[in-house]
Amino acid sequence: MRSEWRTGLPRPYSERETRVPKSACMVCRTLIPLGQTRCPEHRVKDKPRARRNPDRPTASQRGYGSAWQKLRQAIIIRDGKRCQACGHRGDRDNPLSVDHVMPKSKGGTDSASNLITLCRKCNSSKRDR
Ligand SMILES: [Zn+2]
Ligand SMILES: [Zn+2]
Repeated sequence: MRSEWRTGLPRPYSERETRVPKSACMVCRTLIPLGQTRCPEHRVKDKPRARRNPDRPTASQRGYGSAWQKLRQAIIIRDGKRCQACGHRGDRDNPLSVDHVMPKSKGGTDSASNLITLCRKCNSSKRDR
């Protein structure tokens, strides 16, 4: 087998190293360890695929994340899983939700002291005012 094609090309690695099986960078053909596809210069970091679920209308789409979900659970438990206005325990028709005592638009915070458990009925009647 002849290998004349090599003679005119710059050799990126020494003869000694070529004894180890190598593959070549798919961009510049520099020899690289077997199993890789690109040299360090041309390597692209694999972006982790964004895990999105557009079918799920969650609270996170309104700007709340899992931290809020945790906090929300904590508030409901703190309030004895009851609406703090009417004492309703929450059911499918009128579930409990956690609301801000002082609305965030008026400077209220997400701290536990500013959060209260209300049923949906009481919550919406409060908002309707
Ligand atoms: Zn390369
Ligand atoms: Zn209520």
